[in-house]
Amino acid sequence: RKEQLQLLASVEAVTKDGYRMRLAGNISSVKDVEQAVKYGAEGVGLFRTEFLYMDRPTFPSEEEQFEVYRQVVEAAGGHPVVIRTLDIGGDKQLEYFPLFEEENPVLGFRAIRISLDEAEMFKTQLRALLRASAYGQIKILYPMIHTLEEVRQANAFLEEAKQELLRREQPFNHEIETGIMIEIPAAAAIADLLAREVDFFSIGTNDLVQYVLAVDRMNEKVAHLYHPYHPAVIRLLRQTVLAAKEAGISVSVCGEMAGDERALPLWLYLGVTNLSMSPQSLLRVKHRILNSTLAEGMEQGKHCYTLTTSEEIEAALAKWTKS
Ligand code: PEP
Ligand code: MG
Repeated sequence: RKEQLQLLASVEAVTKDGYRMRLAGNISSVKDVEQAVKYGAEGVGLFRTEFLYMDRPTFPSEEEQFEVYRQVVEAAGGHPVVIRTLDIGGDKQLEYFPLFEEENPVLGFRAIRISLDEAEMFKTQLRALLRASAYGQIKILYPMIHTLEEVRQANAFLEEAKQELLRREQPFNHEIETGIMIEIPAAAAIADLLAREVDFFSIGTNDLVQYVLAVDRMNEKVAHLYHPYHPAVIRLLRQTVLAAKEAGISVSVCGEMAGDERALPLWLYLGVTNLSMSPQSLLRVKHRILNSTLAEGMEQGKHCYTLTTSEEIEAALAKWTKS
């Protein structure tokens, strides 16, 4: 079974009626890229860079980061690589950068909020990303965005970083694309406004589900309430995807839902063609795509959209997946 799946690595992710999807990998290291490529990933949809900052005594230097980003983009063999700027805080901490004890860390000082506050740290990462963009197709992704101002501020830092590299006469892609994670309900709600400011959206369902349902994704006590297929989540997904399409920007899904093959009818119905997932899920999802049709999948996704509870939606998707 595993060997059979491996044969699909080099096969395009196309439904039986010819609808092409693109599956990319979520990675945390250079080694992960090799695995993603082995399982047929068409690039990296999410590089979680926080792991570069963890388990070490200080912030990584521009040079160190540049090396890693360059290796990742080179290992991706010409495919696009989406690199997310530092997403610490919440459940992820750095020993050398103590954060205040917070009553509600996931609602607190984290991700882009820290980057916008720590200009030198942020610009060091941006310069490293820009320099690596001379070696392949890198796109920059900002995490935990919930306002237009944050996007504008982040891009202003990017502009400063570019000016610094120009002064140093170091090469970079002047047209580098920037995008944002849609993982806070407010961002989904103003997706039409945000879409005018960025080149792409990446929907982070892990946090989106946590925040829209007010259910801590790490808390065992409420794990039974953590429902990715809650109609509220699906409505926000739809709203986000429609806003992206309306604005003519690309959109991908990179949370755990992307690697759940049961969700395929939803993607077909919503018109999501880009999914990014852990390398281990790639072949399973591709197998599902190869055995589905756009026509039937859309029909099923549309039907799920009319259902009223997570339980009904999940049951309908599970049944369709087995059929
Ligand atoms: C997400 O929130 O869905 C996501 C992909 O990011 P992370 O899991 O790193 O928070
Ligand atoms: Mg997240």
